[in-house]
Amino acid sequence: MFEINRMFKKKFTRRDFLKYSSSLAILLGLSEMYVPQIASALEQIVSKKQPVIWLNGAACTGCTVSFANTDYPSVAELVLDRLSVKYMETLMAASGEVAEKALEDAIQQFKGKYVMVVEGAIPTKDDGIYLTVAGEPFVNKVRKVAEGAAYHIAMGTCASFGGIPAADPNPTGCKGLKDVIGGTVVNIPGCPAHPDWLVGTIVNILLFGKVPELDQYGRPKLFYGRVIHENCPRRGGYEQGRFIKKLGEELPDIEGCMGAKGCRGPVTSADCPHRLWNSGVSFCIAASAPCHGCVEPSFPQQSFYEPIPEVAKTIKAGETDQKKSAIGTFGASLGGALAGAAAAAGGLYFANEKAKHKAEKTEGV
Ligand code: SF4
Repeated sequence: MFEINRMFKKKFTRRDFLKYSSSLAILLGLSEMYVPQIASALEQIVSKKQPVIWLNGAACTGCTVSFANTDYPSVAELVLDRLSVKYMETLMAASGEVAEKALEDAIQQFKGKYVMVVEGAIPTKDDGIYLTVAGEPFVNKVRKVAEGAAYHIAMGTCASFGGIPAADPNPTGCKGLKDVIGGTVVNIPGCPAHPDWLVGTIVNILLFGKVPELDQYGRPKLFYGRVIHENCPRRGGYEQGRFIKKLGEELPDIEGCMGAKGCRGPVTSADCPHRLWNSGVSFCIAASAPCHGCVEPSFPQQSFYEPIPEVAKTIKAGETDQKKSAIGTFGASLGGALAGAAAAAGGLYFANEKAKHKAEKTEGV
């Protein structure tokens, strides 16, 4: 048996616990009023130790790294200290038959109670022969573990939608978890997924006894409810039509929008702009990298550095407006010049007429 809390040998005070409850309230989008309720629910969780079985399929294990790579006293660390991960190929100390026995024991002992987390896509072609664990096709193992699980979570884009392993031509027939087991699967996409998205989902399940509200792609609305474009720090650039022309370019008086360089923020739903990454340090767009929409089912089968149709339209409209306004300005100055010339000509005309009239009068006298 492997317990994640062996990785984090730390003692938590009551103050840490309340601080943690408070951060969970924020994580779950609840008001501070819920802190005592969360603290009491967590105390129950601590005594129960929620069993988790984590399977690793076709992936780079970036989601494991993202999940484990957190700073004290992060939410992930504190929650992990309270979870009991019974099986996780990438982090467990056991291997071979001992590891397989741990999995069988966990399935039997916690049937109907454990949370199943799958990281990575699932190869299905030719009976799943392209990925085997302990001599068994991974897809069979997924089905077996899924049968006894209370909740099913797909961690990362590969497990959610197939991701990079399922990209064309997908020779191993990789699929996401839901396409393999059906039913309710909570998708936590991202390449990698943010640790808070998984932790927040598990805590939500433990606190309220049900999965959080999901969107059309099975993602918790709590974390994937708004498009990145809505809260982007470069939005001012977009609104003013100030697009950067090459990556890394800095505009003199504004953060330029990266829409012309393929940013998918307008069609990508995730809370990256305010959650931030690497313990709240930054996120792709703030670090001058266009959003590649890694949480969307279309990733990575897309063009990366060409503007998406929605943005291309805006850029084109902006260019047309600029042309119009340039023509307008030219027209106005030409008009002004003509009016000025006309006025001057008119003035000259009237001066000449006056002079002529004066001369006629003088001659007539
Ligand atoms: Fe930000 Fe991208 Fe939207 Fe530009 S297109 S405002 S860089 S999200």
